Amino acid sequence: MPIDTAINANWTRKHDDPREPLLASVPRTMYPKSLEELIAICQDESLGALKAAGSHWALSHGAISDETFIETHDPHSIRRAMGRTLKEVVPHCLHPELLKRMADADRRRHNGAPVHVEAGKRVYQLYAELDQIDPLNTSPKDGVLTLGAYMLKHHNTTAFKGPWGMVTAGNAGGQTIVGAFSTGTHGGDFTVGPITDSVLAIHLVADGGKHYWIEKVDERYSPQLTDDELLRALYDPIAGHENFEIIREADNTIFNAAVVSVGRFGVIYSVVLHAVPQYARYERRRLHVWQDFKHQILDPESPLYRDTAIVPGGYVPSEDVVGPQRFLQIAVSLTPHANFNRNLAGVTKQWAMKLQSDPPGRAERVGSVATTFDDRIQGPRFSNAGRAHSYRHDPDNPLQAEDDTDPIALACSNGSFLAGVIEAAIAELEDFVESNGAVVGASIAGVVALGGAGLLALIPALVAILLILKALLEAFDADDRFGEHMEKIKNELLDPNEPDPLKRAAGLFTWQLIVLIAFRGQQGDRDYEAINYAVLDQKDYRNISCEVNVDSVEVFFNALDHRLLTFVDALIAYEIMQEFQGKACVGYASLRFMGSTEATIGMQRHGLTCAVEVACLKDVSGGQEMVDYAVRLALNPNIGGILHWGQRNDATAADIQRLFGDASDPRNGDLGAWRRALDVLTASGTHNRFSSDFTRRTGLEL
Ligand SMILES: Cc1cc2nc3c(=O)[nH]c(=O)nc-3n(C[C@H](O)[C@H](O)[C@H](O)COP(=O)(O)OP(=O)(O)OC[C@H]3O[C@@H](n4cnc5c(N)ncnc54)[C@H](O)[C@@H]3O)c2cc1C
Repeated sequence: MPIDTAINANWTRKHDDPREPLLASVPRTMYPKSLEELIAICQDESLGALKAAGSHWALSHGAISDETFIETHDPHSIRRAMGRTLKEVVPHCLHPELLKRMADADRRRHNGAPVHVEAGKRVYQLYAELDQIDPLNTSPKDGVLTLGAYMLKHHNTTAFKGPWGMVTAGNAGGQTIVGAFSTGTHGGDFTVGPITDSVLAIHLVADGGKHYWIEKVDERYSPQLTDDELLRALYDPIAGHENFEIIREADNTIFNAAVVSVGRFGVIYSVVLHAVPQYARYERRRLHVWQDFKHQILDPESPLYRDTAIVPGGYVPSEDVVGPQRFLQIAVSLTPHANFNRNLAGVTKQWAMKLQSDPPGRAERVGSVATTFDDRIQGPRFSNAGRAHSYRHDPDNPLQAEDDTDPIALACSNGSFLAGVIEAAIAELEDFVESNGAVVGASIAGVVALGGAGLLALIPALVAILLILKALLEAFDADDRFGEHMEKIKNELLDPNEPDPLKRAAGLFTWQLIVLIAFRGQQGDRDYEAINYAVLDQKDYRNISCEVNVDSVEVFFNALDHRLLTFVDALIAYEIMQEFQGKACVGYASLRFMGSTEATIGMQRHGLTCAVEVACLKDVSGGQEMVDYAVRLALNPNIGGILHWGQRNDATAADIQRLFGDASDPRNGDLGAWRRALDVLTASGTHNRFSSDFTRRTGLEL
């Protein structure tokens, strides 16, 4: 059977405007279904340059090929994905001594279990499958036992029946697992490294068709994960003994280079990941003012990182909290208030908990098995995995889900949340105007420092603004995107050509009021607990408006370096300047914290790394400008930020050399080590077809 191929089809990324594909026509898009097909593609020189893609969620050009695109998970979900969970290696090629050790009860509790999947499995599918209890069938139809059934049959233990969970994850699960770790995708767990650091082995097919089992030497899996003879018995027949190589080095040089390599080393067919016994999380979020606590970020002993889960009079989780605080995120509103002096910031902390008997979020985020085996995803289809609104707890009962849909989700699917925000702003403004300044609502008080006569002077102009807001509300068109609504509002309120300074000031004031009310609605206080993935994966999979036509960049810093604060404060200053020019960024700066990675060119280079994500809607003028500014600032050597490989990435080879290399000698440093590994896997550059515009521009070359 020829490999499923589309000729001259368009190719686009998730965040591009759906009306304008990024590439109108590309020579060839291939949809392989197996390791054999991947090898055939990599052997066929007539296909020219190659590049693998996952879900197309990367905003960088990392997944763009010079010629042939290899899809592991059709982003349109029409063609069959390479999404199987594999059983041939785990457990059947695991090292016999390791298997014996795994049977030991104590080790099991501490070390979790390996899981082997094809590259194109999406993260939400992975966490849904891991969360299932293995029926421990010791006589399956296909004759191949799962790890759980194998351990029952040969080691007389039921300890591997699950449920399992991911060590850490990002805030969404639509990426493929390989696409995610290939760019260093992370969440906000600062006690561990990014997802990449859960990888135990990758099966890579390089240009020319040689395939490599690259395995990490990891003391949790000593003496080693797999047995060479068993692996060879499985994989040698596929393309011959000489075309299959096992790489397992004491210092993990090649493994650490290949695991974050942005598709440069070849196409990864499958991955073995470390999973842990399933757990729940307790989350606490509080709204603060950025300027009041930002200095605490530089102190690793501060309550930002070392808070206790249970505080007097506070929420008490239903099960035991396990371990210290592990997660920190700070979402900063770039729009100022209090006479431009303050910015709201939602501070979110999480703790791991023992799993509840009926964990909140499981039904809502995974649900039941709808189809036992769905051919398109090559696995079970769950009723809610990757299909539901984000999990939202009932504020009156933090152990239960809210019946109503998240208002933020509604904001994106129709204008109702935004309409609610504008109505709230109108109500406060009307009270203020009608009482001639005597009644000052909480949000108005937040936007201005009270007491001055300044606000009173704005009353006549606010009357005119009230009329504008009411007219906007009446003209709300449900077909417009959220960003398009915001653009209209902003254009009315921040018109730099308005000749009357009082009207300009009133417009600016009202804009800040609307953003303040909206931000409070999104980042207000909350306490709840739910199963691991329901807390981490906050993505609203039904949202079709807020996440198209978005630009975002994520910049990594040493969290303890003052340049992190300089960067965020510069973004705030830029937004103030924009607002006077009739522009605005409808978005946020989100700071997430994480441990360092072992990946040679992973962005997490510090024991405590902070990633600042700046995301704005491109429909609103000022959004694109803000992201552009953040990129320029990040790449300024005095700021020293590192850009995410899978978000917008404008870095040049010189930037990458400066950030990852050794200034005295490009052959040294982490970049030098990464290049030496590339040299091995490309046979000193003779098999170079996974090079692309992106890798050449960023210096991911020999
Ligand atoms: C809504 C949304 C939320 C996000 N949240 C986060 C977050 O919380 N944290 C975070 O760090 N990032 C986040 N990102 C960024 C995202 O995780 C990365 O861009 C990720 O790389 C995308 O994975 P993908 O499967 O879509 O891969 P693609 O975008 O298709 O590809 C990304 C890279 O991986 C390579 N690749 C993919 N598959 C293979 C393969 N089989 N073999 C070799 N190389 C391969 C590609 O060549 C490319 O270089 C988010 C992005 C979006 C759109």
